[in-house]
Amino acid sequence: MKQACDLARRDVGSVSLLAVSKTFDADAVCLALDAGQHAFGENYVQEGTEKIALLRQRRPDAALQWHCIGPLQSNKTRPVAEHFDWVQSVDRLKVAQRLSEQRPPELPALQVCLQVNVDGGANKSGVAPDELAGLARAVARLPRLRLRGLMCIPEPAPEFDSQRALFLRAKVLFDELNAQGMGLDTLSMGMSDDMEAAVAAGSTMVRVGRAVFGSRPAKVTSPV
Ligand SMILES: *Cc1c(COP(=O)(O)O)cnc(C)c1O
Repeated sequence: MKQACDLARRDVGSVSLLAVSKTFDADAVCLALDAGQHAFGENYVQEGTEKIALLRQRRPDAALQWHCIGPLQSNKTRPVAEHFDWVQSVDRLKVAQRLSEQRPPELPALQVCLQVNVDGGANKSGVAPDELAGLARAVARLPRLRLRGLMCIPEPAPEFDSQRALFLRAKVLFDELNAQGMGLDTLSMGMSDDMEAAVAAGSTMVRVGRAVFGSRPAKVTSPV
């Protein structure tokens, strides 16, 4: 991250690290915590809520911050609203409304990023760029949510310049929303293989899994 910031002539403090702990166990999270990392990302609701509960038992005094970064169906919002601190994958008003309704009143507002589809692929997750501003205004009005910014996952591109060009689309949308007074502070983009390009395009949060924890086991496709 320091190298990426140096290359982009950015202050290293302007980019934060979300350690993506999906598929890694609570021991791995504890090791990262001991190394000073506090923000963790999970993709799967059940795996995430189980890990959150384990960490609460094992490290009751640690100030952990859990981000849900995986695709979210509207019938799976309740455990997310009850256990996570952030949701970065909101791309529909219905999901946002349910999260707002289900956020327990004793907890702080749920911090939200809208996932935007910068590639334009029709069946990908993420709101289309031309529907983003309307969704952002509607989500910003929901009482138990706090809209913080945008998240994107562009298709893997072969080199730095093509990666950066896709990330710059998200940066333009982010700047446009802020020019309309949305007050966003989080542009979540960049993963193990493309974080340098994302930082060059203005990312404020990189979501890194393999480069922190090592390679993940191949995805199991059949139930065991
Ligand atoms: C898995 C995942 C990451 C991390 O990917 P790595 O290649 O392991 O760094 C980041 N963001 C999302 C949404 C993911 O699903």
